[in-house]
Amino acid sequence: MTITIVEVGPRDGLQNEAVVVDTHTKVEFINRCVAAGVQRIEAASFVNPKRVPQMADGEAVLERLTPDAASYIGLVLNERGFDRAVNTQVDEVNLVVMVTDTFSQKNQGMTTQEAMAAVAAIAPRAKQAGLPVSVTLSASFGCPYEGEVAVSRLVDVATQVADAGIDELAIADTIGVAVPRDVQRRLSAVADAVDVPLRVHVHNTRNTGYASALAAADAGVTVLDASLGGIGGCPFAPRATGNIATEDLVFALERSGYDTGLDLDALCLASEWLGERLGRPTPGLVAKAGGFPPA
Ligand code: ZN
Repeated sequence: MTITIVEVGPRDGLQNEAVVVDTHTKVEFINRCVAAGVQRIEAASFVNPKRVPQMADGEAVLERLTPDAASYIGLVLNERGFDRAVNTQVDEVNLVVMVTDTFSQKNQGMTTQEAMAAVAAIAPRAKQAGLPVSVTLSASFGCPYEGEVAVSRLVDVATQVADAGIDELAIADTIGVAVPRDVQRRLSAVADAVDVPLRVHVHNTRNTGYASALAAADAGVTVLDASLGGIGGCPFAPRATGNIATEDLVFALERSGYDTGLDLDALCLASEWLGERLGRPTPGLVAKAGGFPPA
């Protein structure tokens, strides 16, 4: 089976980095991932630059990317962000809905219901512009403020979001608390309730990220998010560090019989390059250990 890995490092990853990365480096980051075979990539975020200064150069990044080399995803949180994104060469837009109200208020300054209303307003505009829409459901496995998130709450939000006419629903473990059984339980509940392709986004905050991603693949999800080197997190979620590393996920998936279409050696070299740019080694392990030993 083929698994598509969505590379989220240039947006989700860098957003949580203390070092401000310049436009040129972001473009090279994206180009290196594309050269390694990445077909979908979070390239930029069109959020308030005052809140997320690292992402202020979204337009400049998009302007310098090779057209049609991959599907470039732009993150938008509201219509103002969509207005910016639609004037660039983004190929798809990603919206975010926090499953709990407290997290939604802290992160986006709106309730979950208000965030869903924003999705309902933006989705038809995106469709009109020919841009596929994915929606990430953040804190699907647990909330940094409210703790446990009931499966019924997740299903309720997923159903309402799916009704807005979107193309993909990403079930996200923003704070890194998912474990494989919970992944299977929640995916099966959401899949029973909505008729939209699912994608899964997990973090390795508590070393369960890779097991959870593999569980999602085994549950039939064919699109997984990962970040080169395992960089990133969320600046608004306390201690939520560590996306799963693209190269480590590729190793685990390919050894499990899945096809990712990605070049592991190229990813490892890019991960090392990224570590040099950030001034610290990236958390991923495969770039250090190497792939499966040759005979
Ligand atoms: Zn993430």
